[in-house]
Amino acid sequence: MIMLSISPISAFSDNYIWCVAHNGEAVIVDPGDAAPVLKYLDQHQLKLSAILITHHHYDHVNGIELLCEQYPQIPVYGPQNQCPVINQRLNHGESIRLLGHDIDVIAVPGHTLDHIAYYIADTQPNPLLFCGDTLFAGGCGRLFEGTAEQMLDSLGLICALPANTAVYCAHEYTLSNLRFAQEVEPANQNLQDRIADASSRRAEGLPTVPSELALELLTNPFLRAGNSAVQASVNAHTGTKCWEKKDIFANLRKWKDNF
Ligand SMILES: [Zn+2]
Repeated sequence: MIMLSISPISAFSDNYIWCVAHNGEAVIVDPGDAAPVLKYLDQHQLKLSAILITHHHYDHVNGIELLCEQYPQIPVYGPQNQCPVINQRLNHGESIRLLGHDIDVIAVPGHTLDHIAYYIADTQPNPLLFCGDTLFAGGCGRLFEGTAEQMLDSLGLICALPANTAVYCAHEYTLSNLRFAQEVEPANQNLQDRIADASSRRAEGLPTVPSELALELLTNPFLRAGNSAVQASVNAHTGTKCWEKKDIFANLRKWKDNF
């Protein structure tokens, strides 16, 4: 079993660019900015061997060109989109092999239509998911291109992964997501505990990412549209009486957009 070491590289105000490394080789996920990545690779004596892209937004792709100037031969994997610097296009259900591991591609449209996630099943102690701006710690991405129903289906695919999957999202939005979650589910004790834990991590300047999928299922309202407390809260907020998961989810997303 090849052990991977995974580290966040901070970029912009709240982005995490993920560096997955083994034996001096690094795979970078969503390099929105090249400078911090080059600095990190240099500091840790790593050689870039591939780039993985989850979707086309600038804060996930803008560093590719400069990285490829330094590493002209590397594959840049990404979804089917208009981004010209991606040279290996991936579809849902495909797998690629990097750093001794199979990486599965899951299409997760919603935040954008091209959005994909990368899942590595055979890592210890947990499987890994790099999900860009789809599932956040305590929240989910805004719907810029897709529908609420598409996002709900995409999150459903993620929820079907093993509960101990480590979820690596691309932003440090956790505390503000959890503030919203608390508004939705004030009586959720798991959520209270998570807020305390995330607050102390942030106070120490530590990332709250990755999180475990099991914790998301207990505390992330966007994965809990089937929960009666979440449904009651959404209905009370919007003045509706709908019980279908897709309607609850759509109203929850609108609520968060204006929170
Ligand atoms: Zn995005």
